[in-house]
Amino acid sequence: MVEKTLAIIKPDAIKKKHVGKIMQRIEDEGFKISGLRMLHLTKEEAKGFYIIHKEKNFYESLTDFMSSGEIVIMVLEREEAVSHWRRVMGATDPALAAPGTLRQMFGFSIERNAVHGSDSPTTAEWEINYFYKEEEQ
Ligand code: UDP
Ligand code: MG
Repeated sequence: MVEKTLAIIKPDAIKKKHVGKIMQRIEDEGFKISGLRMLHLTKEEAKGFYIIHKEKNFYESLTDFMSSGEIVIMVLEREEAVSHWRRVMGATDPALAAPGTLRQMFGFSIERNAVHGSDSPTTAEWEINYFYKEEEQ
């Protein structure tokens, strides 16, 4: 089934100029980029996006990082978009991510891991709605 997921290129990857390579990989993997925007989240917006992690010890640092610079958000469409994008990203910790995955290639640490992807179709819908009004989707 064709589905949508939300992908983010995080501030570390933007600063290191990996945007072009990551977007090329997205197209090579057969995704249609159906939404694309660069923005700089406020601390409050980052906290809202990661609200599910509010009790975690990394919440403050993660939301500082995610609001520290520009990000690129994308809506990606493909068969099994959510699980396919998770496979292309690799494990959360770049040190554990499989060779050839984006986090293994471009991630710096478990926090500064270059890219984000929704973890289920339900989360994807919530995350897309967080950034896009209904008529923009
Ligand atoms: N994160 C972190 N420390 C951790 C785990 C996660 O800083 O110990 C950050 C990391 O940037 C990760 C994000 O929090 O991508 C969300 O964590 P999650 O467990 O949802 O990982 P993901 O779904 O991004 O692989
Ligand atoms: Mg997650």
